[in-house]
Amino acid sequence: MRELDVRNPRTGAVDAKIKVYNQEEIRQLTATQRQAQRQWRAQGVDYRCQQLQRWKTQLQAHAGDIAAALCSDTGRRAFAHFELYKVIDFIDHWVARAPVLMAEAGEGVSAMMPSVHYTHRLVPYDLVGVISPWNVPLVLALIDSIPALLAGSAVLLKPSEITPRFAKPLMDSVAGIEGLEDVFQIVTGDAETGQAVVDHVDAICFTGSVATGRKVALHAAERFIPAFLELGGKDPAIVLPSADLDRAATAIVRSAIGMTGQACQSLERVLVHESVFDAFLGLVVEKVSLLALNWPDIGQGQVGPLIFAPQAKVLSAQLEDARQHGATIHCGGMLEDHDGGAWCQPTVITGVTPDMLLLREETFGPLIPLMSFATTEEAVASANDSEFGLSAAVFAADTAEAIAVAEQLEVGAVSINDASLTGLANDVEKNSFRYSGMGGSRMGDSGLRRFLRKRALLIQTGEPASMAIFDEGQVAG
Ligand code: NAD
Repeated sequence: MRELDVRNPRTGAVDAKIKVYNQEEIRQLTATQRQAQRQWRAQGVDYRCQQLQRWKTQLQAHAGDIAAALCSDTGRRAFAHFELYKVIDFIDHWVARAPVLMAEAGEGVSAMMPSVHYTHRLVPYDLVGVISPWNVPLVLALIDSIPALLAGSAVLLKPSEITPRFAKPLMDSVAGIEGLEDVFQIVTGDAETGQAVVDHVDAICFTGSVATGRKVALHAAERFIPAFLELGGKDPAIVLPSADLDRAATAIVRSAIGMTGQACQSLERVLVHESVFDAFLGLVVEKVSLLALNWPDIGQGQVGPLIFAPQAKVLSAQLEDARQHGATIHCGGMLEDHDGGAWCQPTVITGVTPDMLLLREETFGPLIPLMSFATTEEAVASANDSEFGLSAAVFAADTAEAIAVAEQLEVGAVSINDASLTGLANDVEKNSFRYSGMGGSRMGDSGLRRFLRKRALLIQTGEPASMAIFDEGQVAG
């Protein structure tokens, strides 16, 4: 049996191990899940809603253990509790929406052939795979799993090998819940396990990097299964001259530094009109300077450790490249090692240019690069100068003015006079543009509908279609 060491981000110590599930184990497990799924689907959506409500109660009962595991996984405490709160929120939301969406099958008469009456049946994918990353371990493990389960699918989840500790208490919360305990399963492991998951499921939801997303998409294409990909970002903010600068600074600092910048929708490029640039920079530096690392006491500060150790090298390289090319660091700018864990000071940088690594690569850390612009056209062109198209933010006094700019951005969601709202308002549909993703929206009603295929039952109420259309003698030669 292959095992993997799991590193603690606060101490650098290996304090856990996980088993790596292999092909054969996944083949056996998925065969059992497929059997259980038949009953799960047949019981109907109201039954599934009841079982999910039971799960919610059990999640609350196991909240202490799950939050403690997430805390060890990520080195942050407040957000571990927020993740649990969000998951409960997902269950409430989907339990309310699922019966409505599942009743939408629809029936009617074909406009093309009025003697044909039809009715639809919604057929869930039997088995949905979910592969999740390390930055928001619980939320990103369950954001797709919950609607898939309510749609009637079985779910096989593979969490990131960097943050897998929460899997055990999560499975403890499922134990004993009839039906759910058979259809919802977790397998730990790395790329080998992820590939085996794609080999055995009927649809795959993947959240992670573009590089791995591409491999998953190719693999899924070989198997002719749908791949729903949620990948990286390099989200821009545009601060127009009319904006309430204090409000914009507060939102941008929260989005860029919150979660230590380890969020796909963290703002990583801030474009500010030249007429307000100095005033805005002052506000951002003031707000960032008030933030502190959550070290040595996890009960203090706002900025957690870098969860994935190699990320420290990425941040160092981006900072070094910016320094060498003449950027100015106004606060922060240093990586710190404490007790074996790696932290990055929250940092504000100006004098950055589009060719710098800091503006080209995803950062995934607490760095805020600020650039000035003279015209709105220039701001839009800079914002769109990226291979990513996840989301963006626009700040202006007048909503119409902000919307006019937002509509020119090549991204799937734009927050207006706030930032990263897609992380909070999960009931609003959005797609990921460019290399930020592929497939139907995970947010809003599409988040459940995409697990349902339509089977049409076409009922001929008139004479059966005849052979006449094939009669070669009908057409003059
Ligand atoms: P990653 O791509 O390295 O790994 C993600 C998952 O894929 C892990 O569980 C990993 O074990 C698995 N995996 C690795 N190789 C695989 C393979 N060949 N086949 C199948 N599975 C495989 O990503 P990460 O470093 O864990 O996460 C960070 C990335 O995730 C960032 O780019 C971030 O922007 C992105 N992300 C996107 C969203 C979104 O909603 N768009 C949300 C959070 C994170």
